[in-house]
Amino acid sequence: MPDACKYFVPGPTWVRPEILAELTRPMIGHRSAEFKELFRTINRDLKTLFATTGDTFVVTASGTGVMQAALENCVARRVLVTTCGAFSERWYSIAESCGYEVDRLDAGWGNAIDPAELADHLARHSRAHYDAVTITHNETSTGVTNDVAALAEVVREEAPDALVLVDAVSSLGGMPVLVDEWKLDVCLASVQKGLALPPGITVAAVSQQALARAAKHPYRGTYFDFVSYKKNADDDSVPSTPSIPHFYALAKQLDDMLRTEGLEARFERHRRMRDVTIERTARFAKPAATSHQSTTVTALLPAMPPETIRSEMKKRGYTLGGGYGQWKESTFRIGHMGDIPLADLEAMLDALSDVTRA
Ligand code: PLP
Repeated sequence: MPDACKYFVPGPTWVRPEILAELTRPMIGHRSAEFKELFRTINRDLKTLFATTGDTFVVTASGTGVMQAALENCVARRVLVTTCGAFSERWYSIAESCGYEVDRLDAGWGNAIDPAELADHLARHSRAHYDAVTITHNETSTGVTNDVAALAEVVREEAPDALVLVDAVSSLGGMPVLVDEWKLDVCLASVQKGLALPPGITVAAVSQQALARAAKHPYRGTYFDFVSYKKNADDDSVPSTPSIPHFYALAKQLDDMLRTEGLEARFERHRRMRDVTIERTARFAKPAATSHQSTTVTALLPAMPPETIRSEMKKRGYTLGGGYGQWKESTFRIGHMGDIPLADLEAMLDALSDVTRA
């Protein structure tokens, strides 16, 4: 089994050889008819993946770039950041570095954001107090999935003028992300997680309201200007030279996800991967998240030092994720997202069982 997955990091994730092969196709110009056709196909499939009839973009940057873009296009003055781990905190540091007034609603590491607490917080302010609220769908540092549907509904009720900006970096492709039903304004995901492509581009869905807000910002920069992305997307194009190899790989991956595996089957595989991981590690570790456990990543608190486990696994050819941020020393993480076959995850868990018994 030379192509079996032995790489269980929560991003970048293992990439199938067929997808890697797409990256080596001959170059085409990004203003050519071939590119427009490729991009048309990508956007059609992205709308299905994001469950939206609105605009979808592909940006040549990692997810952090498009988090910054979302703020720069949608926020004039003040933003509320909901935090529950390292990546949700990233919204806070980006917003601060852009010079916005930033408030934080913190649930604490390992917890999910409570919709009732969000409602309480927003009810204390006028409907126009915040330009936007940020939500991290899946907190990769702790393995917690926030209930975006409920949180976005609270924002709509309590702060109807605020746009809802969602980081779906480690959820898209591994669990449902319903942009229109949940009424999200910006929803973004870099592709090296649940989409199982090499890192380098980010996909996003952007609402009419977000585009209207962006159009009012005189200084929203050039590279990440959503209005320019929209104008180009209407012509099956992008504002500047994209990573064209990634576009080939994305087109194939979307086709495989939607038409070969099917989204429901893919989400079910992810649910199985989460359940098997938690069941088969229960003897020596407990999940750091006690509820809202993610289907794409599990952070584990083991009885023995996490670094010993990871280095013993490395000797057997397996790479597991380390702990992150303030949980670096106490946890390790198993990424079970993207294209990982269940059988390969189970083979890894057999090895993990041996290592922790020794
Ligand atoms: N948000 C989440 C939830 C993540 O897991 C990550 C990366 O791990 C990021 C944002 C940052 O994405 P990128 O590394 O593509 O900039």
